[in-house]
Amino acid sequence: MVPIGLPFLFVDGDLVFTTLEIEDWNDLTTPAQIDECKLMLIGKVPSAPSLNLQAFQSTIYLWGPWLFSRHLVIFKPWVPATPLHCYDFSTCAFWVHIYGLPLEWYSDAMISRAVQSVGKVLEVRLDAKEGTSLKSTKARVDIDLSQPLKQGKLIRVVDKLLWLDFRYERLPHFYYSCGKLGHYATYCLDIPDPAASKPTHHVCVSK
Ligand SMILES: [Zn+2]
Repeated sequence: MVPIGLPFLFVDGDLVFTTLEIEDWNDLTTPAQIDECKLMLIGKVPSAPSLNLQAFQSTIYLWGPWLFSRHLVIFKPWVPATPLHCYDFSTCAFWVHIYGLPLEWYSDAMISRAVQSVGKVLEVRLDAKEGTSLKSTKARVDIDLSQPLKQGKLIRVVDKLLWLDFRYERLPHFYYSCGKLGHYATYCLDIPDPAASKPTHHVCVSK
């Protein structure tokens, strides 16, 4: 069997390997790296005619966020001249519905303004609700995952106080007390779970 990638020659019908120094790389991979690789998946889309990869990529990216068992899975588009460890996974785009807007504010500009405190506004949608003349208002917003989720916004207009309610599509698990994504009470660094710090008392009852 010819080793993969090794240059070789045929001399009078016999296989003759070129004389190359062999570097031993057996010890260069750590068990941690191997364990990390065991968690990777390598994909292929067998298709003829070939798949529209641009559409496929857009679908994966734009139809997010993706969840597995309510855990957030973040995909990012390629960034030129950037090593893998420099990719920024501190943000993720979510669709945010806005409830409570006065009808005269149903416009792209006002929807964008309503959610600009949530994060960077990437896209605004003003879609007609099926079978009605009402419209749903939502925006796709890139959210900083280290910050608490904004639940809404209080605004004043013509001497009225209005609450704009934000509701998020496909939200992963988060801790209500601190408002941050990605953990529950027992893993919160901001507001520790009071139940976790209570001493436990074991009472033995003899019959
Ligand atoms: Zn927390």
